[in-house]
Amino acid sequence: MDKQTDPVCDMQIEVEDAAGQSDYEGRAYYFCSSACKEQFDANPTRFINKSEIQN
Ligand SMILES: [Zn+2]
Repeated sequence: MDKQTDPVCDMQIEVEDAAGQSDYEGRAYYFCSSACKEQFDANPTRFINKSEIQN
């Protein structure tokens, strides 16, 4: 029901189908795969800045 954008690969995913979740600065981010989550966790600001530009 609640769709979120995976900040790493920009895929639209259902929260309930997410393979992983990370909380960063009070926001929850959801990922299509554990590989995307690992990339985000290694360098969160890189992906957050990217998604803010697109919004
Ligand atoms: Zn992904």
